[in-house]
Amino acid sequence: MTEQFDIVVVGAGMVGAALATGLGQSGFSVALVDRETAPVFDPIQDPDIRVSAISAGSERYLRRLGAWGHIDGMRTTPYTRLAVWDDSINPLSSLLPRRLNRTTFSATELGVSHLGHIVENRVTQKALWDSAASQASVSLMQDDAVASIQQDSRQAAVTLASGQVLTCQLVVGADGANSVVRSLAGIGTSRDQYGQHALVASVRVAGAPGDITWQAFHPSGPRAFLPLHAASGVKSQSESWASLVWYDAPDVLARLKTLPDRDFLSEVQTAFPEELPALTHVAARASFPIARQHAHHYSHNRVVLAGDAAHTINPLAGQGVNLGFQDAECLQSLLHEAKRAGDDLATGRLLDRYEQRRRPANTRMMLAMDAFYYLFSNRIPPVHLIRNLGLGLAQRVPFARNQVARYAMGLDDGSSGPLQAWLKALPKPPFMTRHL
Ligand SMILES: Cc1cc2nc3c(=O)[nH]c(=O)nc-3n(C[C@H](O)[C@H](O)[C@H](O)COP(=O)(O)OP(=O)(O)OC[C@H]3O[C@@H](n4cnc5c(N)ncnc54)[C@H](O)[C@@H]3O)c2cc1C
Repeated sequence: MTEQFDIVVVGAGMVGAALATGLGQSGFSVALVDRETAPVFDPIQDPDIRVSAISAGSERYLRRLGAWGHIDGMRTTPYTRLAVWDDSINPLSSLLPRRLNRTTFSATELGVSHLGHIVENRVTQKALWDSAASQASVSLMQDDAVASIQQDSRQAAVTLASGQVLTCQLVVGADGANSVVRSLAGIGTSRDQYGQHALVASVRVAGAPGDITWQAFHPSGPRAFLPLHAASGVKSQSESWASLVWYDAPDVLARLKTLPDRDFLSEVQTAFPEELPALTHVAARASFPIARQHAHHYSHNRVVLAGDAAHTINPLAGQGVNLGFQDAECLQSLLHEAKRAGDDLATGRLLDRYEQRRRPANTRMMLAMDAFYYLFSNRIPPVHLIRNLGLGLAQRVPFARNQVARYAMGLDDGSSGPLQAWLKALPKPPFMTRHL
């Protein structure tokens, strides 16, 4: 069977589902295809192991899509403070008081109610599937994967594994880091594999949900705490959920992943800084390799990429999906203009403008993540001293600190002023493995 649409979006992850919602609001007929079935949310289920720090900028976008109310109605945890410090032991550590090497970003100082929210990916994705499905012109096709794509000067035809054929003017690949759409379109990538992997754990901690998220840097990798909602149905009423991330060498994390729960909790409690509340339970653990990947082109003929299909970055500052939402918003607005002008939706001019707007912003964020990785993942004493002084100085220079905060909150794209100069001057990490 063949069906015709304006646009086919492959991948109903957070980015694809957001884009399909926005395109539906602009009156496009859209097929939104995913190989998985619809995400399910139950308020008594344990949190999804995949959580994201959703920036204030992304929250605004999700509000415009009409999805934020639904997300908030399920579960979100706002945070008003974000702290970063260097926790490594070094011969020069004794030169600095412990609190000097710490920077704290605060909503109060920025004059906003919160810096962002920690949200389970399942919650964001469900809200966006529902908002996409509520658009009359969006057809959701689940449990079906893309098998092939043919294109000519007039249209593209997407054949699904079920045999269904979808014809359209434009195919959007929002199918994640291992994008099949990207491969079918013949778009290559540059890929840098970091030496560290990330172990994520869903845990319960003593006490009510906190309002602070923090990251302590060690030479072997950062250790991060992301607060989640209050735990219900447990014996003690004063427990809450949290997500922990431990970045380290793959063999270290492989051992941690297989430890019995009690040993795992005790090792984490010892290895994490004293700021970690008492751990009471671990519900799930998973580890991920970390790579930086960037598509050589964001489009080819009638195929365009968005989100992780176009770029993946080191998750240490939790910016991946926030960049993907910015891609979706940019593409949506260019397609809206083309529709109003009565243009083909896949002209080279339109798709080049998309890449010209998004590639520099995505590259800037990648460079910033590399700088953090490079500065903090080594044991060289002078670098240790510089980064400690840097964090201490940042704490004492509110203008610089607030500018970085606005960039991380998605309220500033980092394209002007001292932040851009700093990002341009950053060195490339010398110890990453490059796969082209
Ligand atoms: C440890 C870790 C922590 C992270 N923390 C954060 C954070 O705090 N904040 C943040 O912003 N980002 C974070 N990220 C990154 C974030 O998770 C990703 O950037 C985000 O999930 C990308 O969304 P996406 O929709 O582009 O791709 P995905 O989430 O990968 O979605 C792709 C979708 O496409 C579907 N699909 C794939 N192939 C096909 C096919 N052939 N046919 C049909 N459908 C297909 C999949 O089923 C899926 O639904 C983190 C990543 C990691 C690894």
